[in-house]
Amino acid sequence: MDRILEQLKAGVRRFQAEVYPLQAAIFEQAAVEEQAPHTLFIACADSRIDPVAITSSSTGEIFVARNIGNLVPAYGEMLGGVSAVVEFAVTSLGVRHIVICGHLHCGAMQALLDPDAIAKMPTVQRWMNNAHAAFSVAQILHQRAEQSGAHSDLMQVLTEQNVLLQMQHLKTHPSVAAAMARSELTISGWIYNIGTGEVRIAPGGSSKFEPL
Ligand SMILES: [Zn+2]
Repeated sequence: MDRILEQLKAGVRRFQAEVYPLQAAIFEQAAVEEQAPHTLFIACADSRIDPVAITSSSTGEIFVARNIGNLVPAYGEMLGGVSAVVEFAVTSLGVRHIVICGHLHCGAMQALLDPDAIAKMPTVQRWMNNAHAAFSVAQILHQRAEQSGAHSDLMQVLTEQNVLLQMQHLKTHPSVAAAMARSELTISGWIYNIGTGEVRIAPGGSSKFEPL
């Protein structure tokens, strides 16, 4: 364990010596100004996802919320961390866009297909209930596609349906619904491919993920 802490500390020293000096002015200004991110980015907690890196964003540009499976409980279901982040980002920070970003090879989506994988994790199991409707829809879409002879990857269909479902959940939050009604907020769903760097996007109102 200590070896890992030493590795982390070495990383901080490298940041202080090599990265910070190059952007010192930006960091100093960011510390004294109020943050004004333009986007709330909701992504999976997966260690291979880096929202700042994949959007080439700078310090202070995106407000990030991450959890297992990039889920947003529908309003009133589970008022907790995610709901508070959404309300704060929209009402206080005034973000103008919210991204829900899913990704390929997502362990959370795999767990929906294979519930035994999370049998010993009751908290994770309960959390994943927020994605069950996506599982139902994905199974039907997948069966239909196979019956018509089209190629269909159930994991990919599920990953997409989960992002679309979470976009629906997002709109049940009063702060989001009001900001969208005022045309001050838009939302989009993304699928990120870790292996290729490809991002496909479904703008709010669309259920089709198109490459950039
Ligand atoms: Zn994931």
